[in-house]
Amino acid sequence: FDMFFLAFVERLFRPSFRKDDFVLGKKLGEGAFGVVYRVSLAKKPSSKREGDLVLKKATEYGAVEIWMNERVRRACANSCADFVYGFLERSSKKGDEYWLIWRFEGETTLYDLMQSKEFPYNVEAMILNEVQDLPKGLERENRIIQTIMRQILFALDGLHSTGIVHRDIKPQNIIFSEGSQSFKIIDLGAAADLRVGINYIPNEFLLDPRYAAPEQYIMSTQTPSAPSPPVATILSPVLWQMNLPDRFDVYSAGLIFLQMAFPGLHTDNSLIQFNRQLKRCDYDLVAWRKSVEPRAGPELRRGFELLDLDGGIGWELLTSMVRYKARQRISAKAALAHPYFDREGLLVLSFMQ
Ligand code: ADP
Ligand code: MG
Repeated sequence: FDMFFLAFVERLFRPSFRKDDFVLGKKLGEGAFGVVYRVSLAKKPSSKREGDLVLKKATEYGAVEIWMNERVRRACANSCADFVYGFLERSSKKGDEYWLIWRFEGETTLYDLMQSKEFPYNVEAMILNEVQDLPKGLERENRIIQTIMRQILFALDGLHSTGIVHRDIKPQNIIFSEGSQSFKIIDLGAAADLRVGINYIPNEFLLDPRYAAPEQYIMSTQTPSAPSPPVATILSPVLWQMNLPDRFDVYSAGLIFLQMAFPGLHTDNSLIQFNRQLKRCDYDLVAWRKSVEPRAGPELRRGFELLDLDGGIGWELLTSMVRYKARQRISAKAALAHPYFDREGLLVLSFMQ
């Protein structure tokens, strides 16, 4: 059977919805390309006050975001928030809007969690139900961060193996799923764009400069112009190997790793400052470390100490993710197999999940 035929049949047997089926609740977010609400089904008012679904009313990029979510649903469902349905809502007043529906995964993003003084212990309480054998301190924090990083990389590997580059990986787009008790990726709004445009020139509005890798083009400009979507969203393995567009996401994930290790970098403003310093060091993390470590305050020193645990295996992974040249960055799959995740203690944690 053809993949598109299967998709069609699958869709035929899924419930379909229209605008009037939903009751709008609290607004969860508002970006340049859409508004996100918590919603419930009108027919089935949930016993809880708040809805168990999420609605994004999207403009231009909605069509591709629906397509991306459909694809993720079938190919790597556990990587991203659970997508329910998407449709076009025609309106003469407001212009056409794409409505996208997901299951409500939970209240908190990794960003929210990182803003707490308790981080990473507040995450530990969510992902581990057994009392830790380690006293509070660096080693325990490192283990929690390891678990978060493994979940992020696992989700990312799923996307990349499916042929999707997210391009907007950041703590705001990583949600804690209460159902699966693990982190999932959300917001495939920017994922599509690079495959749509000729030469894959990214739309600058779609890129978050705080987490974006330095390369301006994630596909070489020599690449023959892209076919139109949705065919364009499946990159040929040859083009993929030539350009390694997935390493853009790996860079962003590396920055999240760094942010988690250094409490002083938890806020976005501090990350902007870090990016300036890193740029001055030509995106060389080792050079950056040399420049800041001699005059580092206790917070910065603590971050280095955490990454230096177990012979510096964390620092080794971090520096393989955050590199100037995409080609020199580790892949999400290879990162998962990195010895950083390979310790006895971690095996125990993974069984507990
Ligand atoms: P955008 O960043 O384009 O506004 P997102 O898809 O990132 O849109 O969603 C905005 C916010 O809505 C997220 O940061 C998150 O807080 C919340 N959200 C999105 N999807 C879900 C979901 N499936 N479950 C729970 N909350 C969600
Ligand atoms: Mg977002």
